Amino acid sequence: MKIIDGKQIAEVIKGEIRVEVAKYIDDYDVAPHLAAILIGDDAASDTYVSHKEKDCKSVGITSSIYRFSTDVSEEELLKTVDFINDDDDVHGLIVQLPLPKHINVDTIISHIDPKKDVDGFHPLNIGKMMLGHPAFLPATPAGIIELLKRYDIETSGKHCVILGRSNIVGTPLSVMLSRKSKHGNATVTLCHSKTQNIKEITLQADILVAAIGMPEFVTADMVKPGAVVIDVGIHRVPDASLQAGFRLIGDVNFAEVSTIASFITPVPGGVGPMTRIALLQNTLTAFKQIVRLSS
Ligand code: NAP
Repeated sequence: MKIIDGKQIAEVIKGEIRVEVAKYIDDYDVAPHLAAILIGDDAASDTYVSHKEKDCKSVGITSSIYRFSTDVSEEELLKTVDFINDDDDVHGLIVQLPLPKHINVDTIISHIDPKKDVDGFHPLNIGKMMLGHPAFLPATPAGIIELLKRYDIETSGKHCVILGRSNIVGTPLSVMLSRKSKHGNATVTLCHSKTQNIKEITLQADILVAAIGMPEFVTADMVKPGAVVIDVGIHRVPDASLQAGFRLIGDVNFAEVSTIASFITPVPGGVGPMTRIALLQNTLTAFKQIVRLSS
């Protein structure tokens, strides 16, 4: 069994981005700029945004955060999106989800300039992805494809079983893996909460992706020996023996499944770091498309 070390691959890619950004700063005195809109005081959202800020800083990307209290109106948010859309010095814009209940997520996301939609959530980018046209791809599936690519894991002709059909992970990944492309060409089965006999299906998987949000759902008896297992799930469980008071686990029972998988992503250190990297890659791409400088 081989561990797919997302943390290490993410560091390699970070180095590549850092070099490219430094060149733009040296040659043209401009840097990519990512703006984030953060609403409310949800601790998890706050952590995600501060990680994104830290990641940007580590590669030379400028970042700014627009913070709002939970009672912000949809109108005010739309005005802020307009403002950032029109700001030529900002190249990427993300809106940290979830949003308060009185704000319509689709309205806000659809208002982002698709050229700056580095989360890849705008309907135009999703439509382009469906058609296989160049587009900003959602970070987590893009990170998973990058991991398969860097570990030289063949997808063509393989049976990929994805557990979970969310709009940000399972569904776009099913499209990307089944596309007629170098890191696609797989036969994909997308499972969800209404899928019957899930174990019969997972046992057929050459590549099994778990993105259902249920701690250690995938056990060894559900996995074909030699399968590649990608664990997207992330959960905190109390652990008094650790200073933090908790440890992280995924949707896969790592102790069991790692004994029969050929490749497996750990939690933490697997898909998570790659999701963070994909956002930086998209921001750099947006910058290059908007600013149009020769590298
Ligand atoms: P989500 O929105 O939480 O949706 C869960 C999906 O799993 C739904 O499609 C649901 O089916 C399906 N599901 C739930 N119970 C099931 C069961 N017993 N059998 C089969 N399918 C079941 O999904 P998500 O946002 O993609 O998140 C999934 C997990 O990944 C979470 O733990 C999340 O924290 C983690 N995550 C990690 C990263 C990362 O960077 N590592 C990024 C994103 C998400 P229905 O559609 O029928 O409800």
